[in-house]
Amino acid sequence: MAAQKPQPTLIGVPFDAHSSYLRGAAAAPPLIREALRCQASNTWAETGVDVGSAFIDAGDLSLPADSAFSVIENAVAEVLDDGRLPLCLGGDHSITYPIVRAFSRHFPDLVIVDFDAHPDLYSEFEGDRFSHACPFARIMEEGLARRLIQLGIRTMNDHQRQQAERFGAEVVEMKNLPALDRLKLSGPVYISFDMDVLDPAFAPGVSHREPGGMSVREAIAHLHAITGKIVGADLVEYNPAQDVSNLTATVGAKLMKEILGKVIVSE
Ligand code: MN
Ligand code: MN
Repeated sequence: MAAQKPQPTLIGVPFDAHSSYLRGAAAAPPLIREALRCQASNTWAETGVDVGSAFIDAGDLSLPADSAFSVIENAVAEVLDDGRLPLCLGGDHSITYPIVRAFSRHFPDLVIVDFDAHPDLYSEFEGDRFSHACPFARIMEEGLARRLIQLGIRTMNDHQRQQAERFGAEVVEMKNLPALDRLKLSGPVYISFDMDVLDPAFAPGVSHREPGGMSVREAIAHLHAITGKIVGADLVEYNPAQDVSNLTATVGAKLMKEILGKVIVSE
């Protein structure tokens, strides 16, 4: 008999204290949840999987200002130790560092697929080593992932290009998409989805609007193209204060539905 699949578990991470430009992403988790349950759509992913009752919702973490990262890391570790599959709703992108620290203990060969307008590889940003502009520098310095594949990048600068070379990050710039064949992977795969990879026309509710980005359809096509066992994901940087008529929450919920559809059937 096949081993039981780990149950996907949504964890809200209402944290935006390492956001460099605008706060607001901490208010995202309940709005994405609400959009996920909205009667305007159904609970089926496009891959033909009903995700409606396939996941547990663990609610939002309560995060003390002085030790938020260790609370995040421990909460994710607890879900992994319990044999479940964490899917985190941010929050700003800084949370991916403590999340991946927990994953690396279970999956030393982790392959990260990061959707983002920005490489987030700064050694430090405005004096903050834990800024949302830095998580992948910390992750790669600590050897927490075997590979880092970054899709949709369109803000590369000299410093981050050097950092990408130093860490062996596999950067696929927006101008070079589609890159569906770069996603034939063998797992374990962790997906980090920064909502600002999308063009602001599709997702205005982000802190750093960067024009020239993916359509929702391009993002879904790249999510669907990922092969290999998906062991976890995060969806970050939705900023409700910047949104228009909750449009970006609806987009975030759609993407989470497709991610759920993938993790439920992935080997
Ligand atoms: Mn980011
Ligand atoms: Mn970004």
